[in-house]
Amino acid sequence: SIQLQNICKSFNKGEQVLNDVNFQANEGEIVAILGPSGCGKTTTLRVIAGFEMQSEGTLLLSDQPIDSRHQWVPVNKRKVGMVFQDYALFPHLNVEQNIRFGVKKPTKECATLVETMLDLVGLKGMNKRFPHELSGGQKQRVALARALAPSPKVLLMDEPFSNLDAELKYTMRFEVKRILKQAKITTVFVTHDQKDALAIADKILVMNKGKIEQFGTPQEVYHTPVTPFVARFLSRSN
Ligand code: ATP
Repeated sequence: SIQLQNICKSFNKGEQVLNDVNFQANEGEIVAILGPSGCGKTTTLRVIAGFEMQSEGTLLLSDQPIDSRHQWVPVNKRKVGMVFQDYALFPHLNVEQNIRFGVKKPTKECATLVETMLDLVGLKGMNKRFPHELSGGQKQRVALARALAPSPKVLLMDEPFSNLDAELKYTMRFEVKRILKQAKITTVFVTHDQKDALAIADKILVMNKGKIEQFGTPQEVYHTPVTPFVARFLSRSN
């Protein structure tokens, strides 16, 4: 699980980019952070991953507290998997090598794990392909397999569908949801597109100017918006 308690963040004593952010992603839940450009979505993700330290507040990863004063846990010790917006596959490594990159296990176990991962993401037999020989959807599947292979406690995804054309986006939303649920992985992803959030998330966190406007199920935020901002943001047709 992931829990953010009173998280604030400002850069170089500037304006507050995150202003008292509180939410929780329970075990196996998918949470979407939804909001307009510049509202603080990526910063929230970077704080969870450990690329940035919050200025105030406490972050709990699987009940382990990380706060700004006493406890710093570096990125590689947080057991957090990350899927980047452009997937960031290693171009000189094939699919199999990409997937086993972060796994510290004996060769034989690694081979079994790679097969399990390829099966999970629907890419059986693609072991030796290189990233430039893959479609956008296939790259996304490899990126997911690579992030999940080291058995992270939580998965973070930054705008996972923004690089896909409209038709592929439609397919991959269902596929990504299937994969995350099959892997039973606690996930937080950010998007500016309400369709991504409504299609995939168990809970949606609507953010504006560094603050939470609403946190609830897709049903709740869509049908019962609690602020004018949420109502406006979710009624746009795009
Ligand atoms: P987008 O959808 O455009 O990526 P976002 O919601 O992810 O936007 P963030 O990237 O979290 O927004 O940025 C929130 C605010 O924090 C912006 O005003 C941005 O300029 C500022 N910001 C982000 N990173 C830094 C930094 N390293 N130093 C100073 N300001 C920053």
